[in-house]
Amino acid sequence: MSKTGICLKCGSKTDISEKACKCGCKDAVWSKKVKLVDGEIVCECGNRKFRCNGHFDFTDRYVNSLICDCGNAFSVERYRSKEDMYYWDEP
Ligand SMILES: [Zn+2]
Ligand SMILES: [Zn+2]
Repeated sequence: MSKTGICLKCGSKTDISEKACKCGCKDAVWSKKVKLVDGEIVCECGNRKFRCNGHFDFTDRYVNSLICDCGNAFSVERYRSKEDMYYWDEP
């Protein structure tokens, strides 16, 4: 089963088998039931505010699990910028 996502930068469809979107961005929201409007994630029900259902940290990225009031659950994957990593390295 292929996982479909939407690039958080340009809003085009992206695939988990690809390393990055064609715009070069690797941040994505993984759901078929949301879209990107003005850089904001919007659920198909029209909601823009989501409850946090979980947060997972990885070395180079983090994943937020979000859930909408309509029951639509999805995850947002964001890669850390180099600046972020340097920041965390500091004592
Ligand atoms: Zn993109
Ligand atoms: Zn919704």
